[in-house]
Amino acid sequence: MSKFRAGVLYGPELVAVYEDAKANGYALPGVNAVGTSTVNGILETAAKVQSPVIVQLSFGGGHFYAGKSLANDNLQASAAGCLSAAHHVHQLAEMYGVSAILHTDHCSLANIAWVDHLIEYQEDYYAKFGKPLFSSHMLDLSEESLEENISICERYLERLSKIEVGLEIELGITGGEEDGVDNSQVDSSKLYTHPSEVYYAYERLSKISDNFTIAAAFGNVHGVYRPGNVKLSVEILKNSQNFVADEIGETGTKPVSFVFHGGSGSSQEDIRRAIDYGVIKMNLDTDMQWAFCAGLRDYFDEHKDYVATQIGNPDGDDLPNKKYYDPRKMLRQSEEYFITRLEESFADLNCVGRNI
Ligand SMILES: [Zn+2]
Repeated sequence: MSKFRAGVLYGPELVAVYEDAKANGYALPGVNAVGTSTVNGILETAAKVQSPVIVQLSFGGGHFYAGKSLANDNLQASAAGCLSAAHHVHQLAEMYGVSAILHTDHCSLANIAWVDHLIEYQEDYYAKFGKPLFSSHMLDLSEESLEENISICERYLERLSKIEVGLEIELGITGGEEDGVDNSQVDSSKLYTHPSEVYYAYERLSKISDNFTIAAAFGNVHGVYRPGNVKLSVEILKNSQNFVADEIGETGTKPVSFVFHGGSGSSQEDIRRAIDYGVIKMNLDTDMQWAFCAGLRDYFDEHKDYVATQIGNPDGDDLPNKKYYDPRKMLRQSEEYFITRLEESFADLNCVGRNI
């Protein structure tokens, strides 16, 4: 018997995982997927390490999942691809024996139609089946004023609560570039969230539901840069956690569930400290892309003479190369590299054997 139910978790089950993570000092990897190879790779790894996992899609990932030729003027293809991935995970998570959290990544005001489509779909779905498809969605309104950010998040959390879906919000700006949003030139003061801002968000959202998480900026940056360029200030998480705990009269507790974006290339020490201060999820994208790419790169390096022509290789001029150019062969190697890299992340996050 696993600690958490196999399948896609939602509602109080989600809060229970995050509370368990805080109580036991681990964080879940939130892994970006763009197709069945990456989704299956995530489920395979979670089964291997016997821990819950977060499968997440960006609006670009959703569009890719649906197919790049599809029109996406109203983000309808992004939404359809995410729904397709969600149904895929619902179909398979239990078979893998994995407790999966299904999530969508950054959504700015400009892309809000994407999440609106997903919520509308799930309101119908919930009415029919009594459960949502996704565990949570993210709204990244950090480009708006704090007041505007939280007011909109309140409205969404109210709506999401009715279908038992959680919300991840963003305070302050994660630097770097991701999915076409370039924050590499942003004013550096915005890269560090103030504890009072975290309390402001916590105070207002917790009146609606306890099913929300906060991605606070502490100098974290999307992507990988040369060491030394990222000046992390993990203390911001500690100070914010303490500030909120004091304000609500629960000094010494960790009321806030934090999310760590832009963790690629971070030191093990910073990751462990972030977990100590209440980080329950760390997003993984860049390092996983690199692992997937390395699998393909090495495949073609290793089989160079077997993929140059359809017929004929070093073993014989008439020999067919079909078994080398079958896409399943190269994609499986990428999946294996992806899985090996993801296992490392589970270990880094102290998230091995957490679902036994
Ligand atoms: Zn992010």
